[in-house]
Amino acid sequence: MNKKSLYGVFALLAIAALGGCFGAKSATEGMIDMIKLEGKTDLMPIAVIGSGPAGLMAATYGARGGKDAFVIEGNKPGGLLMDTTEVENWPGEISIRGPEIIKKLRSQAAYQGVRFVADAIERIDVSDWPYTLYTENGDVMHALTVIIATGASPRRLGIPSEEQYWGAGVTSCAVCDAPFYKGQQVVVIGGGDSAIEEAIQLAVYAKKITILVRKDQMRAADAMKSRIEQYGDKISVKYNVEVRKIIGDGEFVTGVELYNNKTNKIEQLAANGVFLAIGHDPNTAFIQNVVQTDSAGYISVNGRTQHTSVPGIFAAGDVEDSRYRQAGSSAGHGSDAGLDAVRFLDDHEFTPNIATQIKPSLFGGAATVASLDRTTPEKALSATINTIESLDQLNRFIDRKGLALIDFWAETCPSCKQMLPVFESVAHDFAGKVSFATADSDEAIDVVEKLFVHKVPCLIAFRDGALVARYSNAMSKKELTTFVQKLLQESV
Ligand code: NDP
Repeated sequence: MNKKSLYGVFALLAIAALGGCFGAKSATEGMIDMIKLEGKTDLMPIAVIGSGPAGLMAATYGARGGKDAFVIEGNKPGGLLMDTTEVENWPGEISIRGPEIIKKLRSQAAYQGVRFVADAIERIDVSDWPYTLYTENGDVMHALTVIIATGASPRRLGIPSEEQYWGAGVTSCAVCDAPFYKGQQVVVIGGGDSAIEEAIQLAVYAKKITILVRKDQMRAADAMKSRIEQYGDKISVKYNVEVRKIIGDGEFVTGVELYNNKTNKIEQLAANGVFLAIGHDPNTAFIQNVVQTDSAGYISVNGRTQHTSVPGIFAAGDVEDSRYRQAGSSAGHGSDAGLDAVRFLDDHEFTPNIATQIKPSLFGGAATVASLDRTTPEKALSATINTIESLDQLNRFIDRKGLALIDFWAETCPSCKQMLPVFESVAHDFAGKVSFATADSDEAIDVVEKLFVHKVPCLIAFRDGALVARYSNAMSKKELTTFVQKLLQESV
C-alpha cells in the first residue's frame, strides 16, 4: 500500500471513530425511550447546568422551543460576568456592566417560562435514561436532556506561597477587593484582557499598579491595551517576568520574587497586593469520565453542533470553548445548545402530548414560579443574624461563649452577595448552636482594620472570644455547613 492510500485509510478510520463518539444514533441511544418516563418524578425535559450567558440563552431557546427548561444556577450564579465591570463588546451595547448583562438575560429567560433552581450539580449518572442529576443540597433530578454550561474558574499559579497568602494579599477579584488597597502598591499577574481590566479597577484605589507579563508582549486586545495609556505612570507593565514566589512577613504579602526570563536575573518587587489574572480552567471536574473532554479538560463537542459524546447531553460556553471565550460567543453557543436539545427531544418523539402528561411529575411540580430556590426558604430569614458595624458591636458579639461566625461582604462584590443567602440558610440550620453576624466592609471600617480583612467574602470564626478560623472565598451551602460542623466538632 502506498503512502497516499495509507493516509486515506487513516482518514476513514478517524471519521468512523468520531462517528462512534458523536453519531446521532449511537449504541447508547437505543436506551432513550419515552416509555421510561412513566412513574418517574422530578423530571426536567431540559436541565441546564450553569447560569452564565451560555446557560441562560440555552434555557431561553429551550423554553421558546416549547419545552420545560430548568436552570440549575450553581455556586456562582451568573458566572464570570458577575465579576466584570464595563463590557464593550456585548452585541448591541456600546458599554454595559457584566452583572447588568446577566440581569437582562435572566429576566428574558424567566419571561419565557424558564425555572431557576438555586443549587449545584455534584454528579451525573448516565448509565440509564432519563439521566440522573445529584445536587449538592441532596436533591435528585431526572433529565431528558442536559446542557452543560458551567463555565470556567480563575486559574491559580500553583506555588506554595500563593496558598499561604491567599486572602492575605493574594486574590483574583479586583471588583471585590480593590478597596482594601487604598494608597498601596499592587501587582497584577497576566497579559490578557482580564489583567488590564483588573489594573483599571485597581487604579481607583491603589497608588501604583504593575502588570507582570511573562512574555515580551501582552495578548490583550489593542482596544484594552490603549485603555491603560490614560493612567500614565500609575499603571506600568513589566515584560518577561515570571513570579517565582510571593513574599510576606508571615501574615501578609509584602512583595513578589521575579525571574526575568530574558536576563536570567532574579529581582524583588514590593507590593501589598497580588491580583491573579492568568486565565481560566473549565469547570468540568464533576463530568470527567461522563462526557469526552480534551487534555485541558474542555468538553469536546461535535463539529458545528453542541453535541457531546453522550446522546442528549450538550455543552456550551467556556466549558467547551478554549478558543474564543467571549460572552457573546458563549451566548451564541448557548442558543445552539438550546436548539440542539429541542431538536433532540422532537427526534425522540417527545410529543406535546407527552410534555403535557409529565407536567405533574416535573421537578418542583407543575408550578409556574420562576424560582425554585430551596436554599433560601422564608424560614432561613427568621434565623437571628447580627449586624456588626463598630468595634463595640464586635466585642459584644465575640464575647459570648461558644462558636461565633462573621461574614464580611461588600456592596461591590457579587460573590459576597451570592454568599449572603447561603450564610442565612446555614444560620437557620445551626440556630441555637452557633451565633452568626454579617459585616459590610465599607461600613465596619474599624472592624475590618482590626481583623485585617483584605479580601471579601471573608468568614472569621471565634470560639469563646478567640479567633479560631478564617476563610477568604465564597462557599457553597455544603462547604459552609462542613466548615461549621468541623468547628463544632473541634469544640467538644
Ligand atoms: P487569557 O487566557 O486571555 O490570558 C491569560 C494571561 O495569563 C496570558 O497573558 C497568559 O500568558 C498569562 N498566564 C497564564 N498562566 C500564567 C502563569 N502561570 N504565570 C504568568 N502568566 C500566566 O485569559 P483572560 O482571563 O485574560 O481572558 C479570558 C477571555 O475573556 C478572553 O477571551 C478575553 O478576551 C475575555 N475577556 C474579555 C473582557 C472584555 O472584553 N471586557 C475582559 C476580560 C476577559 P501567555 O500570553 O504567555 O500565555
